[in-house]
Parts: sequence; C-alpha cells; structure tokens
Amino acid sequence: MTRFVFITGGVVSSLGKGLASAALGSLLQLRGLKVRLRKLDPYLNVDPGTMSPYQHGEVFVTEDGAETDLDLGHYERFTGVPSRATDSVSAGRIYWTVLTRERHGDYLGGTIQVIPHITNAIKEFILRDVDDADIVLCEIGGTVGDIEGLPFLEAIRQLANELPRGRCAFLHMTLVPWIASAGELKTKPTQHSVRELRGIGIQPDILMCRSDREISVDARRKIALQCSVHPDCVIQALDCKSIYEVPIHYHEEGLDGQLLAALDLPGTPEPDLSRWQEIVDRLERPDGEVKVAIVGKYTELMDAYKSLNEALVHGGIANRMKVVVDWIDAEHFSQRDLSGRLQGVNAILVPGGFGERGSEGKIAAVTYAREQGLPFLGICFGMQLACIEAARRLAGINGASSTEFGPCPDPVVGLMTEWEFGGETVTRSEKSAKGGTMRLGAYPCDLAEGSLVRGIYGQAGISERHRHRFEVNINYKERLEEAGLRFSGMSPDGRLPEIVELPGHPWFVGVQFHPELKSKPFDPHPLFKDFIRAAREQSILV
Ligand code: GLN
Repeated sequence: MTRFVFITGGVVSSLGKGLASAALGSLLQLRGLKVRLRKLDPYLNVDPGTMSPYQHGEVFVTEDGAETDLDLGHYERFTGVPSRATDSVSAGRIYWTVLTRERHGDYLGGTIQVIPHITNAIKEFILRDVDDADIVLCEIGGTVGDIEGLPFLEAIRQLANELPRGRCAFLHMTLVPWIASAGELKTKPTQHSVRELRGIGIQPDILMCRSDREISVDARRKIALQCSVHPDCVIQALDCKSIYEVPIHYHEEGLDGQLLAALDLPGTPEPDLSRWQEIVDRLERPDGEVKVAIVGKYTELMDAYKSLNEALVHGGIANRMKVVVDWIDAEHFSQRDLSGRLQGVNAILVPGGFGERGSEGKIAAVTYAREQGLPFLGICFGMQLACIEAARRLAGINGASSTEFGPCPDPVVGLMTEWEFGGETVTRSEKSAKGGTMRLGAYPCDLAEGSLVRGIYGQAGISERHRHRFEVNINYKERLEEAGLRFSGMSPDGRLPEIVELPGHPWFVGVQFHPELKSKPFDPHPLFKDFIRAAREQSILV
C-alpha cells in the first residue's frame, strides 16, 4: 500500500525543500522502505528544457530522456533511485494535457475548469507509475501563497481526503529568521505560512523550520501551539556545512520517526547512517586539496552546474581530497592572458554549454591543458570544443568549427539529422523547434580496447545520459585520429563519437554525455573519481 508525503514550502523560496525531500527519502530508504521522489512545479513552461540556467539552474536529464527540475538530481544523489519522466511535472504540462484532451473532444461538451479538470490531472500524475513504492515523496515547487501553486495544493488536499486515513502526510518547510535588532528568532512568519496553508484546507503534520541557529524549546512550543502541530513534530532544520550532513541531522531531530508515526508505519528499523557518516568524515578530514578550474559560461549562478559541482565533490570523496573549484568565465578570458589565470590549477574542466559566446576562451583553455599536460575533462560542449581545438591545432584544419555558431568551412561539430532510438528513427533539422529536439537521455557507448576510459570504467560497454543538439562529425574522425586524437568511445552503430582522448597526455578525456548526472556521493562516477586522482597526481608533481 503506497503512502504519499507532500512537501510544501512557506515564507521564502530557496529554503532547500528539494534537499530536505532527498534527505528524507534517504532516511526512509535506510529504514528498508522503497521510495520514489517527485517534483510538481507550478510554472507554465511545459518542461524546464528551454529555461535559462540563470533563472532556473541546471536542467536535470532522466534516463528516459526527460528534461526536469534540478531537484530530481538531489533525489537521485541521495537515494540512488534513477528518476523517470513520470517523476516531474509542471503546471504547463498539466494544462497541456487537459487542453489536448479538450481539443480531442474527450470532455463531451463540458466546461473545463481548474476544479475538477486540472486538479484531477494533477492527482492522476501523483498516483501514476508508483509501482511497488512504499512511500512517494511529492515536493510542490514554489511557496504557499503563490497564485500558480493553488491548483496543486487543492489537488493534494483532495487526495488526502480521498485516500484512506494514514496514507498521506503533509510536511511544511518554513523559515525562522533571526532578527538581530531584537536579538530573537521570530516564529511569526511560520505561523502566517501555516495559517495560509490551513486556509486552503491543509493541516501540516510536520513542520521543518529552517534557522541559522538553535530554536529554543520555548519557541518550538509556541510554533506547535499556534500551528496545531505536535511539539515533537516541529523539527529544526539548521544550516549544515555540507549537504551530505543533512540526513544525519534530520534523523537526530527525529524527522523520519515522526513522519512514519504520521503515516501509521511504526516499527521500521532505525536507519544505519554509516554511509553518510563515512562521507561526512571524508569531507571533513581530507588528506589534501586539488584545484580544478571550470572554464564555463554560467559561472555566477552555482545552480547552473549543480550536478557537476557535486560530481567533483564525489570525486574528492573517493580520493579523500578537498576539491577547490576555480570558476572562470570563458568570455572574459579570450582577451586576457589565459595562462596567467590558470597558473597553479591542477586540472581543467570545460563543461556543457550552448552558443558561441565564450567558446574561443574555452578552446584556449583546452590548448593550455593539452600543452601543459594538465588533466583535462571536456563534457558535452567541452568535448565538441576539444575536437575543434584538435582539428585546428593538431590536424591543421584552420576553418574547423561548429555549425551551432553558423555556417563554417569545416563543420567538425554539426547537426546529426537522423539517429536510432529505441528501434525508431528520430529526425531533426536546423528548423526544428527548440524545445524537445535534442538527443536526450541514456544511450549506450562501446569503449575501445586498451583505451584510458576502458580502464577507468573497467568494462567494454557503458550507458550515459545525453542532452545536446550537435555531434562530433564522424567524417573528420580519420583526420583527427591521424593527428593524435583517439575516438575511444563510439555509439554501437559506430556513427556517433561519444568519447575522445589524447594518448600520450597524462589525462585528457572529452565525453559527449553528462557523466555528472549519474554520480552519487556513495558511488562516485568513475570518470570524476579518476579525474580527481589525476589532478592529485599532478599536484604532487609540481
Ligand atoms: N551546444 C551543444 C549542443 O547542443 C552542447 C550542449 C551541451 O553541452 N549540453 O550539442
């Protein structure tokens, strides 16, 4: 019998609801329960695929090729459960579904309304594809009080009323701010937020109160009294040094135990937290540190490279190294002296990206890494630019570029117009609509015998997740190989270059996919593990 937990947020956004949901998912899992985590986003975009990383942070791609909210990345990193397309929905997609049905004539002359049509579609989404999950955690994006969020809150209110008792629990996350002039933590915003929620008909079972300092027993009692929540269910969620400490703290505060009581599931074993303790220990007591330069575009907004950042941390955990990231904006770089700026870094990473802006700076970073023998990892756009760099500098193809930047004499990177996926032929053209025309999701890749990556992965075939429109042009493979680049990973049909490396260089790898999407703190991705190992070796050499 599947149970549902709905996680809402109040007072302000960015309280870390996604992280809290992920950490709670892990705790429940460590108690032997099967969990699924889902995100319901009230915005009107059909999916976040076309949203700027500046606004919305990274787009997380699932195995089955859905472009989803970055919170799904947290869910996967904390629980290891691969998320699916059915784990993420937006108001836009819900409306789209309902309006498509309306056009199709499914409602037989009825008037289409938010209640019941939109709310029913939301409930369908929540109940669909839950398999044999014991607990489905559904995070509602946004903050209580947002106009867009209302249909979602109404839908979960209805659902709790329709399902048998004890099958749903409501968890509400708020902020308890410290007001310096009064020298006090203030509970009023939490009271207001819960009042708003109760006005909609939702009584939270558990409150998670974010605060930068200890919330006194008195303050917790006050919150409990005002909000009709049991005092033991007012959980303090204090700021942590590392996100991987969060499950440990929440358990100490009694979160998982209280939730299971609310769900009428007593008697599950206490979770074994050694997995998280080991990770925290490695983070707190590293043997040393390495400095990795990330030469990218969205460097001001950390969320734009969320998974990448975490994957590097995981590589550090595996090697017991602290990874210090030096974010370098590729755009400013093309003009200035690059080598000066990169002095002292132990490795260089060029991440995924879109558009011409900053690309020459990134290419210059590839040249530097190649010539200096610095470990280099190029991801997606980074791999494409590494191929362009090799074409220009090693193979003497001066006009080498990507058709992403416009027509060019030597399209070393270009648009693939047709490929196979799941037994079907997929086609796209320059004019295809921007949303949903990328190679998305998991694709297999064969690794060449004797290659660096074959050794790193320790297997001949891998599967990794993609999100890109352009491909390295197979027609240049021979010339690039003659110039010294090795195509060490190819799609099984041999048409799509997936990995390149540079034999003779200490560690130079470009991958067309996004390995960061599959890395977990308790199971660091082999490429990141080895990249940080190589960075460490480099740091010892200098
Ligand atoms: N802009 C490139 C493409 O569309 C790379 C995309 C990426 O790095 N995710 O192919």
